[in-house]
Amino acid sequence: MKRGNLQVGISAIKGFNDLLPFESGLWQFIEQTARKVFSRYGFQEIRVPVVEKTELFCRSIGDTTDIVEKEMYTFADKGGNSLTLRPEGTAGVVRAFIEHKLYALDSLTKLCYMGPMFRHERPQKGRYRQFHQIGVEAIGSTDPMVDAQVLHLVSRLFQELGLTEPSLQINSLGCPVCRPTYRRALVNFLSGCQDALCADCRRRQATNPLRVLDCKVPGCILATQGAPTISDYLCPDCDTHFSGVQGYLNAADVPYSLNSRMVRGLDYYTRTTFELVTGLLGAQSAVAAGGRYDGLVEQLGGPSVPGIGFALGVERVALLLGDRSFEQVPDLFVAVMGDSARKTGFRIMSGLQDAGLRVEADAEAKSLKSQLRRADKLKARYSIVIGETEIETNKVTLKRMADGEQELVSLEAVELAAKITGGSML
Ligand code: ATP
Ligand code: MG
Repeated sequence: MKRGNLQVGISAIKGFNDLLPFESGLWQFIEQTARKVFSRYGFQEIRVPVVEKTELFCRSIGDTTDIVEKEMYTFADKGGNSLTLRPEGTAGVVRAFIEHKLYALDSLTKLCYMGPMFRHERPQKGRYRQFHQIGVEAIGSTDPMVDAQVLHLVSRLFQELGLTEPSLQINSLGCPVCRPTYRRALVNFLSGCQDALCADCRRRQATNPLRVLDCKVPGCILATQGAPTISDYLCPDCDTHFSGVQGYLNAADVPYSLNSRMVRGLDYYTRTTFELVTGLLGAQSAVAAGGRYDGLVEQLGGPSVPGIGFALGVERVALLLGDRSFEQVPDLFVAVMGDSARKTGFRIMSGLQDAGLRVEADAEAKSLKSQLRRADKLKARYSIVIGETEIETNKVTLKRMADGEQELVSLEAVELAAKITGGSML
């Protein structure tokens, strides 16, 4: 694109972020911690496409949800098929579960995933158009112990991430037996306070009344304060199930609180739903969320198999962890003086990298001073300077950068590696 005589660069799309090198250490920590925790509970990774048929999301998430109504990136491909960039992970994972008949392999299938999701929302801190989720799905059992296992996993994952602030809130959304009665009671209540609701909620009242309770507009929060709560309408089976979940959580000392207003924004949820909520990210208060979806597999054409899952938002977790440093510093910086020293330096550097150490040098090999400046900038733990004398004597001074302590050692990768990793200087 040209503007006047100026060549204008191309920038990223609004709401789509680059993850820069100094940020990726934090993301790797989050991903590695999740992988470590998931494996303890027997969850195995599944990777599904980022694009699916639009119908998959309409049928699972629900036509009257915010995601399907307003937020999906939907387009026609060259063959005229309607495709959508996945707005969440569960629909695709359940599609794959059915398509590959994973239910035939085990009575409980435990899957985990991580990757980008796409929603056309108004970008702000903690809310982007491409964002990343890490999640799990446990498909095959209605037993409350499975709910408790997933909640235990979520709670331990946040603990391992070093985050104690987001607190776990749980609720039960009932089932097709009891929810219609609750829905009627809620619609009844809402019709009495219509004028106080925002335009979206006046519409939702007819299409998806439970969503009104999730509205962030202050007027709607106020108006619905006296609304009937689902907990008073649970059928005996749902009530027993929810008590069962709480019994297991108490037995394993998982901290939680009950929030009977939590309704979640996706239609497929039944019974247990939950959120990890923080007070530190403004309106972006949900850091992780999930719940049961006992009818979803069947609804998408599979057998009648129940499931439960959750997903966390990586960007929001990263914001909460924000000020921690995950910098990777070199173990050794190799500085050289003169042409033959360059080759020796390269040999030593390669040998140490083969041995598993992080080693840096200055490819430009400018003055010694500028090489050592780079060693400082990279925060190298040790440095050596190789010149004529070092090559002749086959000895080099290993300098510990933190305190300047020096030791004369042989100019051999093996010896240097031994000193740096566990020798006398450590
Ligand atoms: P919110 O109420 O904040 O819109 P949500 O209910 O739409 O969240 P879910 O669909 O349950 O969110 O997704 C699970 C998690 O994914 C959220 O808790 C959040 O951490 C993250 N998330 C959802 N949408 C976004 C987004 N647009 N940008 C960044 N993270 C997001
Ligand atoms: Mg949302």
